[in-house]
Amino acid sequence: MEDPFVIVGGDAAGMSAASKAKREDPELDVIVFEKGEWVSYAACGMPYYVKGEVDELDDLVAVEPETFREKRDIDLRTGHEVVDIDPKAKTVTVSGGSEPFEQPYGSLLIGTGARAIEPPFEGLDLDGVFTLRSMDEADSIQRYVTDADPGSAAIVGGGYVGIEMAEALVERGLDVSIYEMLPRTLQPFGEETARTVEEHLREQGVDLYLDTAVEGFAGDGSVEGIEYEGGSAATDLVIVGVGVAPNVELAEEAGIELGPTGAIATDEYGRTNYEDVYAAGDCAEAEHVVTGEPDHVPLALTANRAGRAIGTTVAGDPTPTGGIAGTAIVKAFDLGAARTGVLDEERAREAGFDPVSVSIDAPTRPHYYPGSSELTVTLVGDTETGRVLGASIVGREGAKRIDTVATALSSALTVTELQNLDLAYAPPFSPVWDPVLTAAKVLAGKLEN
Ligand code: FAD
Repeated sequence: MEDPFVIVGGDAAGMSAASKAKREDPELDVIVFEKGEWVSYAACGMPYYVKGEVDELDDLVAVEPETFREKRDIDLRTGHEVVDIDPKAKTVTVSGGSEPFEQPYGSLLIGTGARAIEPPFEGLDLDGVFTLRSMDEADSIQRYVTDADPGSAAIVGGGYVGIEMAEALVERGLDVSIYEMLPRTLQPFGEETARTVEEHLREQGVDLYLDTAVEGFAGDGSVEGIEYEGGSAATDLVIVGVGVAPNVELAEEAGIELGPTGAIATDEYGRTNYEDVYAAGDCAEAEHVVTGEPDHVPLALTANRAGRAIGTTVAGDPTPTGGIAGTAIVKAFDLGAARTGVLDEERAREAGFDPVSVSIDAPTRPHYYPGSSELTVTLVGDTETGRVLGASIVGREGAKRIDTVATALSSALTVTELQNLDLAYAPPFSPVWDPVLTAAKVLAGKLEN
């Protein structure tokens, strides 16, 4: 009998691969080892659970474990941690149950995800100090807000998780402050978008401490204060959201190569340096469609898509995992902020481009139609080739228009080609010239001069 397709990690990458492989080849044995109890959960929904918009933590589960086991015939084993991989013998060692055991594999997928970075802050172990990565952590935060009734919260890190949690905690009635070490929040979204979001956060009553390095937390049992370079403040709750690190130790110890970003290096099929060992999702690199370089952008669609492609490949139909553009969108109270591609000038130059950008403000509907608001579009192109390199969009409605630019990036369109796209128009939805087209028009003019 053929050795099974073994998967380490039961979330977006792992369960997408398992389901797709089984659908393509029902005869293939598929085993998933997940060290926790939750599988196929939407981590992206956790801030909205804390906020109270999602009633039950269980609502975030896309597919129940029993459905995987009974309807999809996947041997899903929760509470099982893979502690070793031997790629030469093609076995994994699994702990869970009574005794550790060895499991042979025909193909292996590492979908171990990422973990929240925990800087060596003083007082990280105090009650009321949390990171937010797992469903259990979401549950703990929600309980703490309900039971301990904190009046204030300090969020360390002005990235998208920090901003989503700021909104959630303001909604729960807390006074919220965000501490960010860098001069601005939402670093990958570019200056223009970040500044608009920051202004809006302040309007919503969030205190922003930019350029402020946090040193630790004070308290006796429970957190009572936050200490930062040059000052301190009282707080009843802390969320540390300073980014994630890929879970690569298991792979690294097995001699599986890491790439320049520190995540697992993969080829276009998600293969590692071992023929039958694949990696996908937050633990793995993917090729950036603009730079052509390996990149690590830990986001949900990347994980789902790569997992699905690898499932298809393992079932016998080699399928590329697809490139990434780092397309992301975040809700910050009444604003949407989105980004795609390469916005950072230094990074664009490193990749061999000569970037030029424009920022335009445009209405989301014609002047005579009710409900219009202003959208700021920043578009970056390459002087030499005219190619679109990236964009950022911020406004009360319509930030999802970033998808038009993401599509342009995947097709390597020039700014003029983007400007000439035949996009949909009717007054309730858009002006005749969609804001993305207007930005392309202005940038094309700048590129010509
Ligand atoms: P994970 O979801 O991390 O799953 C990996 C699994 O592997 C875990 O269940 C872990 O327990 C298990 N595991 C690890 N090691 C082992 C082992 N040795 N043995 C067995 N099991 C193991 N992305 C977006 O695109 N949009 C969003 O709006 C968004 N919001 C987010 C909000 C929050 C608060 C968080 C935390 C993440 C958010 N993300 C968002 C990111 C998104 O959730 C991840 O990109 C996605 O979950 C990655 O899936 P994955 O399968 O690669 O890894």
